[in-house]
Amino acid sequence: SPLQEVIGAVAQYQTGAAALVRIQEALRLPAEPPVRSAAPLPSAGDRPAALAFHDVRFRYADDLPYVHHGVTFDVPARGMTAFVGPSGAGKTTVFSLVERFYDPESGEITLDGRSLGDWELSSLRAAIGYVEQDAPVLSGSLRDNLLLGNGEAADDTLAGVLKTTRLDGLVAKLPKGLDTLVGHRGTKLSGGERQRVAIARALLRRPRLLLLDEATSQLDAVNEAALRDTVADVSRTTTVLVVAHRLSTVTMADRIVVMDAGSVRAVGTHRELVTADPLYAELAATQFLATGG
Ligand code: ADP
Ligand code: MG
Repeated sequence: SPLQEVIGAVAQYQTGAAALVRIQEALRLPAEPPVRSAAPLPSAGDRPAALAFHDVRFRYADDLPYVHHGVTFDVPARGMTAFVGPSGAGKTTVFSLVERFYDPESGEITLDGRSLGDWELSSLRAAIGYVEQDAPVLSGSLRDNLLLGNGEAADDTLAGVLKTTRLDGLVAKLPKGLDTLVGHRGTKLSGGERQRVAIARALLRRPRLLLLDEATSQLDAVNEAALRDTVADVSRTTTVLVVAHRLSTVTMADRIVVMDAGSVRAVGTHRELVTADPLYAELAATQFLATGG
């Protein structure tokens, strides 16, 4: 009957939507770098990871200019580190290298004190939650979108993550709660809500390191506060790295790494850097997004 056809089409569509996320994830992965005799990285979600870059040089191809010219910084376990700098400075590339989408040409990146290449790649990626700048939210229900992070998440885990990401209030207001359809590519959600759905999806995997490439779009005051509080909460128990575009994010960072043209030019807190680093002061005055509210 026509009704059965429709039901069949919906089921097929949902399978397709889930597959699409996996395809998108696979597409952004270049060929896997070779793995040396690697040990599995402990994935205990409650043990935050420590990360360091030591004089990392990197370019995307031999015939392209260097994107990182000796990048060095230290991120202790737990807390929030913000990366700021002009467009093209190499901030997102830091995240790509941490995920080992690419390997540095020279220098070293360590996680828990050991070179990334010494950790088994699948266990490394399992320990990292990566929220891309424009993380996809698909059609289907809000629940479907969240469970793409971890289909086996228990209800109380899901409830905890919704609370952390301040999505519990939204869910309570939606007519069908978690079963509300979020519309084509999540267009029924605001930009701020979409990014928090992506963060919730990542948190369901209990990452030891959360990488968040903040969206550059303007947020209303409510969403801005929700994002800020989410990051603050997560960074109490997890190591959080944020490519930051918002004043509200950088002012609460434990440390800010200022990048320019592939190098780290300063590290400090917002208060320290506004007086110590002219580039940072200029970014703070002109570039960071701040809401009126
Ligand atoms: P940011 O996030 O600070 O804006 P990126 O790390 O995205 O900077 O980019 C740094 C530089 O690397 C830019 O010049 C950019 O064009 C280049 N780049 C980024 N991704 C790629 C890629 N996949 N292939 C080649 N060049 C790239
Ligand atoms: Mg970027």
